[in-house]
Amino acid sequence: MQLIDTVGRFTKTIESARAMGNSVGLVPTMGALHRGHLSLVERAARECDVVAVTIFVNPLQFGDPDDLAAYPRTLGADVAVAEAAGADVVFTPSDRQMYPDSAAAGGPQDMSGEPVGVHAGSLGRVLEGASRPGHFDGVATVIAKLFAMTGRCRAYFGEKDFQQLQVIRSLASRLSFPVDVVACATVREPDGLALSSRNARLSPDERTAATVLYRSLAAGAAAIAAGARRPAEVTSAMRAELGAEPLVTTDYAVAVGAEHLTPLPELAGAVRLLVAARCGPVRLIDNMEVII
Ligand code: AMP
Repeated sequence: MQLIDTVGRFTKTIESARAMGNSVGLVPTMGALHRGHLSLVERAARECDVVAVTIFVNPLQFGDPDDLAAYPRTLGADVAVAEAAGADVVFTPSDRQMYPDSAAAGGPQDMSGEPVGVHAGSLGRVLEGASRPGHFDGVATVIAKLFAMTGRCRAYFGEKDFQQLQVIRSLASRLSFPVDVVACATVREPDGLALSSRNARLSPDERTAATVLYRSLAAGAAAIAAGARRPAEVTSAMRAELGAEPLVTTDYAVAVGAEHLTPLPELAGAVRLLVAARCGPVRLIDNMEVII
């Protein structure tokens, strides 16, 4: 396993692996690796000759400096578990390596001082994007850079962050990156809570309360299974579940078309249920597919 911290060496290593006829799998992460991340690495290792895991806490996608400062960083352990899961390369660039021309937190700038980056488009402005303005532009910018550095590859992303997955699929296709985006199922705790690096910040009571996100998705899916087709019927079942948990404050609970995450007058085809809620100091998200 090679541990690399410069863009130049990363690009060269991947290029020479590909020149030797190897297929490349890319797994972008922000570290604090758990079984959810490792399921992506393991799948990439099954499907690709060379697997590169990137670990970079991307300042551009954090609106709140406190959230960025509180983000868990466990690099030593991350490298060990990534290697055990099948990583051949672990790329851990500094902020300066990724954004050499930027003011510390301001992002890449051109000569007029305007940030240079990639816009996530309208998909980036709803739901998570409405709650976290600029978040998906930051995600799109860092992923576009990683795609450009890696070149032709399969890139693995979790359905846990479903809106992010759709933003990245659209980015890869609209900007013609030679990248196959591969969606991987959400890994959950036995009680349904989706694994997340942020779960470590929950108190024991909050950790118990946090299972309500999964239960609200299950309630929405049950309403659909019972015949509900109006989004409001489904979201009120989801909100009723969330509202019964005093330690949790709902941000949104929606039932939308899966591809563009747009509201539907009547639910049909590929539907996605998505929830976001605050639980103590932590904002949690989850989602579920329902095919009608
Ligand atoms: P992050 O480090 O939070 O940026 O996540 C890196 C990648 O791991 C993203 O593609 C996430 O969607 C994915 N991921 C995070 N949590 C899970 C999970 N519980 N199950 C599957 N994939 C996940």
